[in-house]
Amino acid sequence: MKGLIFSIKRYSVHDGPGIRVTFFMKGCPLNCLWCHNPEGISAIPVSVAMTNRIGEREFHHNEEVGKYYSVENILDILEKERVFLNQSKGGVTFSGGEPMLQFEFLLEILKVCKANEYHTAVDTSGYSSVQNYKSILPYTDLFLFDIKHMDDAKHSEITGVSNTLILDNYMMLLESGKDIIVRVPVIPGFNDDPDHLNRLKKFLYSTKTVSLRKICLLPYHKIGSSKYKRFNIPYRMENVDTPSKERMKELKEFFSDTGVKVKIGG
Ligand code: SF4
Repeated sequence: MKGLIFSIKRYSVHDGPGIRVTFFMKGCPLNCLWCHNPEGISAIPVSVAMTNRIGEREFHHNEEVGKYYSVENILDILEKERVFLNQSKGGVTFSGGEPMLQFEFLLEILKVCKANEYHTAVDTSGYSSVQNYKSILPYTDLFLFDIKHMDDAKHSEITGVSNTLILDNYMMLLESGKDIIVRVPVIPGFNDDPDHLNRLKKFLYSTKTVSLRKICLLPYHKIGSSKYKRFNIPYRMENVDTPSKERMKELKEFFSDTGVKVKIGG
């Protein structure tokens, strides 16, 4: 069995505790307006025509996005980093795209990683069947779980899918006893109005269990916009500004009332 991966990040410190290796798995059922990894949304490998410019000169070439890796390939990569992962109490994170879209492979690789005593994290949009999440529970130490909008209609408008399944999965995971870090992308003009922030805070507060370890507020940034140019994909967030440091501090303060540790960034 093989998994389709479009990027591998070694020495990652933002995708769970310690130093980690993060595998970005290709394919996502969502289509968020602000997605920082647009090349990861399509579930198949693609060859993308790229243009690089040096001064007045243009250079054209094709870049392959997505490569198949076996379980053994992934273990080999992890084994080379084992000393750093162990010493930092880190591990391996499966991100995307949406890793649950390659459920069979994810389940297999999580089982093998646990058998090899790696700390495992799954970074997910929450959009997969409840049964799939129950299946990976025994092999997953930590869920990085995105909550983007509490209003179903607005959620559909900005991500392309309903939030019902996502919130159902969140509730199930909260009862599981596994560690959860909620990640909230802060997107000015989309989910940072007072009504929505109050609704989200109330939800996080009223549903929290010991599983909820942290809330991470991820400020919208434009770093991904250059990728849209490179991959010739229209960028839909040109007119949206990044939230200021002061605004993010305000929001951190605001969510601290939930009684859960709040952090700016991943
Ligand atoms: S869930 Fe993540 S990977 Fe998928 S479209 Fe949204 S931001 Fe991109």
